Amino acid sequence: MSLFTNLLESMHMDLKITENCSRQSNLHSTCTFCVEACKKGALSPDLQSIDLNHEGCNSCGDCVIACPLSAIEGIVDSRDFCKGSLLYSESYTPTVKELLIYKKRGVQSIQTQDIPMNDQWKKVLTQTNKVLEVVGEPVIEVVQKAQVEEKLSRRSFLTSFKREGKQLAKNMAPASWKLEADQWKLAIYYPEYQFYTILIDRKKCTLCHACKTFCTQKVFQIVNQTLKINHQNCVGCTACSDICSEDAIQISTEVKKINEEYVELHSKICLNCGQSFVTFLPETLKCHVCKDRDPSWLSPYQ
Ligand code: SF4
Ligand code: SF4
Repeated sequence: MSLFTNLLESMHMDLKITENCSRQSNLHSTCTFCVEACKKGALSPDLQSIDLNHEGCNSCGDCVIACPLSAIEGIVDSRDFCKGSLLYSESYTPTVKELLIYKKRGVQSIQTQDIPMNDQWKKVLTQTNKVLEVVGEPVIEVVQKAQVEEKLSRRSFLTSFKREGKQLAKNMAPASWKLEADQWKLAIYYPEYQFYTILIDRKKCTLCHACKTFCTQKVFQIVNQTLKINHQNCVGCTACSDICSEDAIQISTEVKKINEEYVELHSKICLNCGQSFVTFLPETLKCHVCKDRDPSWLSPYQ
């Protein structure tokens, strides 16, 4: 590791919860990805944000990686790399997302250095490799130090090793210290795949637009009487399903080739109250209010 990188990593920097946190704009947000990732218990859900106990925080940065909205700024430390390998450490367990991103940044293996890999690492690696198979990438291997050196020694030092080593060092450095927002989004690294699929129950949905309003990733768009769902943009933050009063949204985590979905919308006049409304279902006769209204109650429109 260069002196420059050492210097950057040794600089203390407090974590900061930014306004991108869904809890700050959405009172219904149930997001606790960062809280669950923090093994020190330094984060706790607040009424309209996340409370960070600076004294408990050891700046490991696990919450930075876990936040789907890149709403936490700070340094991710405690990861070491050696020429295409992530060095195994029992001081942390990477996430599947993290390993998938490291893979795209040049990591081909996990180097255990004669320490048996613990069950948490094995579980994450198995899940990561399943995803890599789906996206047609070589899996991440587990190797001993000697194997890594042997692999590299097979290469020509002055050609591929030198070139790839330099490129790898350049690629890996940001994993430790760079603070760019969006750094931890899988879609950037796997542009041909979607990691989440939004499933809308068309019978329950009233097309109120709450999900569209609260989704910061522009997953939902209305274009010419059509709802466009750009699944690839989804980061699984759950803001849409949290805000949906009809419980009409499910988020599937199956990894698939990207698919932009277009759903036709129909403008109708309610047979009961005469108001115009929009629906997914052309056969619908009553608007979203009258459909569920007790007929013995007064209509709000009459
Ligand atoms: S994971 Fe990110 S969006 Fe979710 S509560 Fe934590 S800071 Fe907010
Ligand atoms: S579609 Fe829902 S879960 Fe996906 S990014 Fe938008 S609000 Fe978050």
